[in-house]
Amino acid sequence: MGLVVQKFGGTSVADSAKILAAARRAVQARELGNQVLVVVSARGHTTDELIELAREISDNPPARELDMLLATGEQVSVALMAMAIISLGTPAISFTGAQIGLVTDSFHTRARIRNISTERMQQALGDGKIVIVAGFQGVDEHANITTLGRGGSDTTAVALAAVLGASVCEIYTDVDGVYTTDPRVVPEARKIDRISYDEMLELASLGAGVMHSRSIEFAKNYAVPIHVRSSFTDAPGTWIVDELDARRLGARVTGAALAKEEARITIKGVPDRPGVVHAIFKRIAAANVVVDMIVQNVSTASKTEVSFTVAKSDLETTLEAAREAAEETGASGTTHDAEVAKISVVGLGMRTHAGVAVAMFEALADAGVNIHMITTSEIKISVLVARSAAVEALRAVHRAFQLEKGDIELEPPSSGGLRKKPTVAPASEVDLGDSTGAERVGRGMEDLVVSGVELDDTQARIALFGVPDLPGRAANVFRAVADAGVFVDMIVQNIGEKGDSLLSFTVPRDQAERARAAVNAAGIQEVSVEPALAKLSVIGVGMRSHAGVAARMFSALAERGINVNLINTSEVRINVGTDIVRGREGLECLRLAFATGSSNRD
Ligand code: ASP
Ligand code: MG
Repeated sequence: MGLVVQKFGGTSVADSAKILAAARRAVQARELGNQVLVVVSARGHTTDELIELAREISDNPPARELDMLLATGEQVSVALMAMAIISLGTPAISFTGAQIGLVTDSFHTRARIRNISTERMQQALGDGKIVIVAGFQGVDEHANITTLGRGGSDTTAVALAAVLGASVCEIYTDVDGVYTTDPRVVPEARKIDRISYDEMLELASLGAGVMHSRSIEFAKNYAVPIHVRSSFTDAPGTWIVDELDARRLGARVTGAALAKEEARITIKGVPDRPGVVHAIFKRIAAANVVVDMIVQNVSTASKTEVSFTVAKSDLETTLEAAREAAEETGASGTTHDAEVAKISVVGLGMRTHAGVAVAMFEALADAGVNIHMITTSEIKISVLVARSAAVEALRAVHRAFQLEKGDIELEPPSSGGLRKKPTVAPASEVDLGDSTGAERVGRGMEDLVVSGVELDDTQARIALFGVPDLPGRAANVFRAVADAGVFVDMIVQNIGEKGDSLLSFTVPRDQAERARAAVNAAGIQEVSVEPALAKLSVIGVGMRSHAGVAARMFSALAERGINVNLINTSEVRINVGTDIVRGREGLECLRLAFATGSSNRD
């Protein structure tokens, strides 16, 4: 008998009629011969109302007591859901997080799961009951109630699906799936049938907004297939699955996202020597700020600029840390821009289709949008633009990739439909050890998982100087390079010291001279070619939601005196460029720092 986990969000249990409708779905799944576990959120706007209530009492409610309060929302829901299911004639039992032994760390209001005991749930399931578990909550080792952060019920559901070996985790919500972009911003956005974990990770934290991104990290780590669907219809929604099951024929881009409330900070005139970026990001991590894009480009006269983005609301705190870091490292100062937004396109197809970057930059150029910063990964390109141009830019990009057109053929499934994956932790109790310190890079169930470190020493870097910071420049450059038949890997664009733009990119070594000629022909004469560089990458999930991953990477390199001369990041990887002769050593020290297996892409 298979196990199905069904999670109902706040809107799906907002009133008694909806609770009964959700209960009927659970009973239906049970009648089809499945064991059924239901996870519920607080009803409707309950969590918001509870937070509001707390604020009426105190400007600064203690986090422990806030968790005590917020956890009541889900407790109401589980009890009502159990009553509803029992009223339909099916046995059911509700549990709080504490009752099923969902143990977290002690970071109130943003706790992470450490382990879950499955015994009590399994017992009840074995007795033929539908088990209903309160989402979003747990207890720490001292039995204090904790919560997992807003939207955390998704994470509870996926975690339970993982430890119980469920065949699917169904997420019932008020939208009918994941869209190519936010349909409120771009009305012609379409529902995506299948998307891979990595694509979803790149989209989720960027405001696709459908799911808690930590739940996707979890699903990827434990190979849990997710089905996001509407609780109000029977139409299939979006499957979030393994890459092999998600691949589409011919599609270059799967979705586009907008992160509207970003702020950019640049540390100017940073001395180009080992240990400097480490000193910077150690300070930022100590301020407990989540850093999004990080970009460092080629240095001129032994000075470089390091730019990064944070949530706009974190700007003040970050600036303070950035100014201290500038002083400590002997940099010349900081600049910032609080009025920026990030546009990203994501797609597995980028790995095999050249020209995605060109198409994106041309769409932006045609819309008259200036690009401030660029960073890329294997499956994602992100640009930073003025917030006032963001919506227009997103629309232009969505149109350029024809994301409104459906009917893209899926590659034939690798082994006949969606496969049930073995779960990683089938034991009755998942003992995942202690997590350590404020960085939380320990060995808890939900801790950072670095899946690998990588060395690519097959590339050359082309750096362009004197590129005016105007719309259309990046498009021109990459059009010329693409027309010359050069395959571009990483693209890095940073803000220069004088507000000019610093653009560089990497290509296979034997194509470097061809790339240089193409750039010259496009009218840019000041070009430097570094014929060989070592690209070191840390790849994993949770890179961004875990403060301090970048700091740890830079620290390991700094300890060895390895200079970082290029940085580019995405949600699932941090890439740095270093001197080619230090490549192997760099790989080795990262492997030790993250205690993981390595791979060498040559
Ligand atoms: N009720 C919590 C919230 O609103 C958790 C959830 O719904 O996922 O954030
Ligand atoms: Mg939610």
